Amino acid sequence: MGANSLAARIPKIHLHCHLEGSLRASSFVELADRHGVPLRYHPTSGSADAAFVDEPAEPVDRSDPYRFKDFEEFLLIFAAVSRSLQAPQDYARLAREFVEDALAQNVIYGELFVSPSVWTFFNPQLDVRETMEAVVGELRKARPHAEFKLLPDLTRNFGARSAMETARAMAGMTDLEVIGVSLGGDEIRFAASLFVDPFAYARAQGLHCVAHAGEAAGAASVRDAVEQLGAERIGHGIRALEDPAVVELLAERRIAVEICPSSNRLTGSALPDNPHPYIDLDRNGCVVTIDGDDPTIFRTSIAQEYALVEAVAGADALERFVRNAIHASFAPAEAKRAMEAQLDAAVAELRPAPRS
Ligand SMILES: [Zn+2]
Repeated sequence: MGANSLAARIPKIHLHCHLEGSLRASSFVELADRHGVPLRYHPTSGSADAAFVDEPAEPVDRSDPYRFKDFEEFLLIFAAVSRSLQAPQDYARLAREFVEDALAQNVIYGELFVSPSVWTFFNPQLDVRETMEAVVGELRKARPHAEFKLLPDLTRNFGARSAMETARAMAGMTDLEVIGVSLGGDEIRFAASLFVDPFAYARAQGLHCVAHAGEAAGAASVRDAVEQLGAERIGHGIRALEDPAVVELLAERRIAVEICPSSNRLTGSALPDNPHPYIDLDRNGCVVTIDGDDPTIFRTSIAQEYALVEAVAGADALERFVRNAIHASFAPAEAKRAMEAQLDAAVAELRPAPRS
């Protein structure tokens, strides 16, 4: 990253970021130790609803606990992280450190995923509202430098009934920065069609709707998220490229695709030897934003993702993607104008116009 790079100092908008996947590695190890949980998880074979059980595994490097080899192992780490967070004060610490890290990178606005149904799956005793209060109490301390909103995840793997329960609970927490719902989890085994009712409910409650799609499954999954769930933005969406009609649908309706370059490489959704699919999505008129996904687990950061994109696609493209993110966010129009002014000022300072 050169001194003239935009990525390091430009104001950042983070639209696709899992709060739990932002836990610092050192805090993960500390919390896991405190609660006596291992740094890896292994699902029992056989039973489908599958309590996770611990199994002796290869020793985990405690100074680098987020190293994994494939998507499956990533999920086991995410599970272990979720299990290490057991009480509202653990979530408060997570949010406090998240804010510190975000401000250090000049993040000015974020819409964060949280996964309450995962929290209570691993820790049934957890009070969700109290935990949300603990998180939001810390997120609000970022003001006036940054504003953070929440998009709780309905989590495909727990099925339609759980999704509806979560949607109902979250509709009652708009006082806690909840502005919408999202859909993550196993896109192949739990299709969008299962979640039509919870999303219709959420929309009727005035909540925004977003969904991960086109990451593990193909273009049809992206179309379903848009047409059946009313998704206003798509997480990843890179496999939309398998069907030009779906790319066109995204471009025409200005439905942003939240691109997470390192995540896609590490989970195998995007092949390392080819240009990342966002280049083609951008070229085909899609609204591309740049995001970190589960930044610490992927051993990256939003600043690092911006830098990767600047190195590959150039400063103009990066600037365009940040502008896209401002417009694709659910911030009120006035806040968008303020963010754009901040971006304009930073760009003018960082990239002075050449003298004539
Ligand atoms: Zn994600």
